[in-house]
Amino acid sequence: MPYTNELCGLCRKLCCEYKTEEPLKKHTTFKIGGSCKILININSSDTLVEILKFLKKQNIRFFVLGKGSNILADDNGFDGVILKISKDFSHIEKTGETEIFCTSGTSLSELCIYAMENSLSGLEFAYGIPGTVGGALFMNAGAYGGELKDVVTSAHYLNEKCEICSAESAEMSLSYRHSIFSENPDWVITDVTFFLNKGDREQIREKMNELMHKRKDKQPLDFPSAGSTFKRPEGSYASLLIEQCGLKGLNVGGAEVSTKHSGFVINKGGATFEDVIELTDKVKKCVYEKTGYSLELEPIILK
Ligand SMILES: Cc1cc2nc3c(=O)[nH]c(=O)nc-3n(C[C@H](O)[C@H](O)[C@H](O)COP(=O)(O)OP(=O)(O)OC[C@H]3O[C@@H](n4cnc5c(N)ncnc54)[C@H](O)[C@@H]3O)c2cc1C
Repeated sequence: MPYTNELCGLCRKLCCEYKTEEPLKKHTTFKIGGSCKILININSSDTLVEILKFLKKQNIRFFVLGKGSNILADDNGFDGVILKISKDFSHIEKTGETEIFCTSGTSLSELCIYAMENSLSGLEFAYGIPGTVGGALFMNAGAYGGELKDVVTSAHYLNEKCEICSAESAEMSLSYRHSIFSENPDWVITDVTFFLNKGDREQIREKMNELMHKRKDKQPLDFPSAGSTFKRPEGSYASLLIEQCGLKGLNVGGAEVSTKHSGFVINKGGATFEDVIELTDKVKKCVYEKTGYSLELEPIILK
């Protein structure tokens, strides 16, 4: 690759960790995915700007990765650069009585704990969603009746020209697993501000623990997955439809419709990208034929 040496040199100059020919299966919770050309651990917004400018100038493909918890990556890998925005770009700060600012690589669960420790309520629903704040905003992640939309006030991001922009929550087109960022995948979220409510620390802790127990009880957390495999179709639930169609336990290669939670496709061992695609296609076809509902994949395909 003509650009790799130059890019590696830039990473060293910017003190960013990087790896060449890095397998994506090491960076996705599904544990699936071939190698990318270079994976760079972004460590600051200045670094991000420098690297993005380089990539854009040379017209190099890139993909922004958080914790890879909603990603289905191709076994053939990604012929470009992965900008990993995760723990090296993590900072949380209380910026007002009920306001928290954090950089986009912050773990969502760490943010929930920080809010709880500061007796701030509103993020309990998000405890246990295994992503970063940036990935959660991109997806408008949600659970147990809450979603990011309820607690986000504003965010900064870099647009396609590498300009720093800000957006208020109302400008983010937040709806079910959708945001202005999912409409513009070449924008990169750098930080997010949350508005919470004063609450009782013990009550917040209890709620978080209760929801975490529910997750452990209902979800197949012992196996790699990308969480819910299908979006919730309007008027029903994917897991209910899949169960009604008798598809629990259906498998292709190492991919299986979980017997614990039919909304999850799990990697029972050695599942490939193709296994998951073939299995999910079978599920979609059967659910459509038997119920008339069209299921749509929730994870983002990285190829
Ligand atoms: C066991 C399990 C349980 C889950 N439970 C839930 C749940 O209850 N509710 C729910 O909503 N989701 C759930 N998920 C899915 C997933 O955790 C969320 O979608 C999460 O918000 C993704 O964050 P991430 O950092 O892992 O993003 P990634 O999976 O790395 O990326 C997702 C998308 O966000 C983009 N992105 C990531 N960071 C940025 C950034 N800084 N700027 C711009 N774009 C960015 C990526 O390009 C990609 O398109 C679950 C997943 C698992 C494995």
